[in-house]
Amino acid sequence: MNIPANRLDRGFYKYQKEFEQKALDVLRSGWYVLGNEVSSFEKEYAEYTGANHCVGLASGLDALWIAFRVLGIGKGDEVIVQGNTYIASVMGITINGATPVFVEPDEYFNIDADKIEEKITNKTKAILVVHLYGQASNMGKIMEIAKKYNLRVVEDCAQCHGALYDGKMTGTFGDVGCFSFYPSKNLGAFGDSGAITTNDAKIAEDVKVFRNYGSEKRYYNKVVGTNSRLDEIQAGLLRVRLKHLKELNEERKEICERYLSCIDNKLIILPTARENATTVWHQFVIKCEYRDELIEYLKNKEIGTIIHYPIPPHLSEAYNYLNIKEGSLPITEKYAKTVLSIPLYNGMTKEEQDYVIDAINNFRK
Ligand SMILES: *Cc1c(COP(=O)(O)O)cnc(C)c1O
Repeated sequence: MNIPANRLDRGFYKYQKEFEQKALDVLRSGWYVLGNEVSSFEKEYAEYTGANHCVGLASGLDALWIAFRVLGIGKGDEVIVQGNTYIASVMGITINGATPVFVEPDEYFNIDADKIEEKITNKTKAILVVHLYGQASNMGKIMEIAKKYNLRVVEDCAQCHGALYDGKMTGTFGDVGCFSFYPSKNLGAFGDSGAITTNDAKIAEDVKVFRNYGSEKRYYNKVVGTNSRLDEIQAGLLRVRLKHLKELNEERKEICERYLSCIDNKLIILPTARENATTVWHQFVIKCEYRDELIEYLKNKEIGTIIHYPIPPHLSEAYNYLNIKEGSLPITEKYAKTVLSIPLYNGMTKEEQDYVIDAINNFRK
């Protein structure tokens, strides 16, 4: 049986008729960028998250850097972020000229809230919280610290559509929630797209202006903005998927609960759940000291895996200029050497799950 780490076609075929009808409707409408589909999606996604506003954008990275831009965080400023994140989180900070200050993760792969305060300086302007792999971060403690030091909070919600902390939706705790709808995310489009959520009308307005060359009124440009508009076709297809997001997340949860109860191998460490937090299981991430052997073993059984992420941002060539040495973030670096994401996708059959479970249970070093 051939089981890739992810397959997006299954998620399409689940609702094929609805997706195809929506695509046809948009194609025939004669309106393709920033129209009714986009404004309807923004309204529906704001409602879904419980935020007052949602603004559609062209990608998750755009959501991040535009958020920091409208918050006025750039050159000379420091932003606290966890070491073990996707590099896009960090680029959202550095595109604006601000400096990332890395904090080690906790056992749930999110920022260790107990290690934030020691990194705060008089240059610190914000905390970028990444709800990695779908699980909400320790927002109680993080919001307390932000309040105490008067810091902005930006949430990278690229992997956590629908995840709650204390019953409240991620993306609504801080000043801005930044979402990606890249096809492999829990709420995925059929191309690139993203959005911000916020309760602040001014921030929403500024992002709206910024995404369209800084113009509120056509050909009258207030600021030097960018082009980060959302396509009608993506917004329309996202509206279709959003209607089913609850059941899609529920399906991922069922698969992962089977993994949790059936995977039993002393060489494998399973992911754990934070109290008060839900995870929407963007990835099922195990840890293994013999990861390279495990990858090879699974590959021989035609089971695909992905490492999220093999090189932490501070050791990536792109951030050589930060001059952060190997060994400075030992937990982050250890995760990079031991984590492995095993197959997980909507539409994964019971047989496929069993095949993965059996293979992992039979792995020996
Ligand atoms: C996917 C992702 C992004 C970037 O989103 P794009 O839409 O690909 O630009 C940012 N942060 C995290 C944690 C992600 O997983």
